[in-house]
Amino acid sequence: MISHSYDELLKSKHRLAMLLFFFLNSATALFSMVYPPEGSSSMPFPLVLIFGLCCAGLIFSFFSKKNYSAHLNMCSVIVGLLWGWQIAFRFAEIGQTDKNYLLVSLLSIFFISAIALSDNFLAFCLHAVPSTICVIFLDDFQHVGRILFTVSLPLIGLWLHHLMLKRSDEFTRRMVSNLYSEREKFSDLSMLDPLTGLYNRRGLQNKLETLFNQASGHYVMLLDIDHFKAYNDNYGHHMGDQALVRVSAAIRDAVRSRDVVVRYGGEEFLVLMSNVKQEHAVRMAERIQNKVLGLNIPHLFNAEVSTHVTVSAGLAALEDGDFIRALGKADSSLYNAKNSGRNKIFYAWDEDRDREDTLEEVIGERMA
Ligand code: GH3
Ligand code: MG
Ligand code: MG
Repeated sequence: MISHSYDELLKSKHRLAMLLFFFLNSATALFSMVYPPEGSSSMPFPLVLIFGLCCAGLIFSFFSKKNYSAHLNMCSVIVGLLWGWQIAFRFAEIGQTDKNYLLVSLLSIFFISAIALSDNFLAFCLHAVPSTICVIFLDDFQHVGRILFTVSLPLIGLWLHHLMLKRSDEFTRRMVSNLYSEREKFSDLSMLDPLTGLYNRRGLQNKLETLFNQASGHYVMLLDIDHFKAYNDNYGHHMGDQALVRVSAAIRDAVRSRDVVVRYGGEEFLVLMSNVKQEHAVRMAERIQNKVLGLNIPHLFNAEVSTHVTVSAGLAALEDGDFIRALGKADSSLYNAKNSGRNKIFYAWDEDRDREDTLEEVIGERMA
């Protein structure tokens, strides 16, 4: 995005250069028409052509939404040739005696080129060289050395300027792209939990934004390690961390790569399964439970459940894109799984059905 906007910036700079180029050429042409040299016509054909073309170019580039700056070289050579023709035309009109006219004309062309085309060495040459060659010829090669010297100085200066500009442009572009990749890296890192490498809540939020564009069949599962406080208290925080890492890997291992696994809290995990049937979601939940148990992480203080680390889980279907509701259901199922002895998976739809059955029984009793 940043490098894209940098390109946009360069494009708008080139567009401005193009506008300036048309403006300076049309203004110079207009000035020559208003104040023609003595003994010459005020509206010679090449001058009118330059004025007309540059005015049209100026208006067109100004109002057009498209950027035509890629055609700057072509415009430069056309206007440059027209200026050469104009100089020859006028020089013939004033009687081919005033050599100062040649010098002043040449300097005017260089002035326009230097101001509008300093960023584009090729366009500069294309605009200025036709007039230079024309002046050397019209001058009968009398001051070739002097003219070439006068012309070569700005050319060398501009070439160096152009090289420096290109370098600084490359440097800026590299810096901008580094900045962009660093930003991507940090943004990715900020979505991951540093201990387990799973997504954190920010990562979940990010995934949720894209998830709902996909097809239906989403399930939310909340998992919580059983008696983990006791594990920490007895085996130490460091061992606790190691157990968390292994349990995280087991959960990640038990689900598909497209499923989103989040460290939702300290020893709580959330799994978001997408495009899956209910029976497969159930099977994945059971696989997680078995994989965690299969890690065989000793946990003697979990004795009423097992002698190893276990997890309890609540699974709920995500309906109508309502994540919060599904999360609430999964949480209450998890709560019930904990209360019914731990190392269990409770399903929100079973509980909903039980609740409906109970409600029907109560209503039935009251009716009776
Ligand atoms: P329950 O079976 O009801 O879930 O009991 P529990 O002890 O697991 O639940 P409780 O919420 O009382 O304790 C959670 C413990 O998880 C408390 C804390 O010591 C531990 N814990 C949370 N985050 C971390 C962590 O990053 N590293 C370690 N080592 N322990 C953590
Ligand atoms: Mg716990
Ligand atoms: Mg907990």
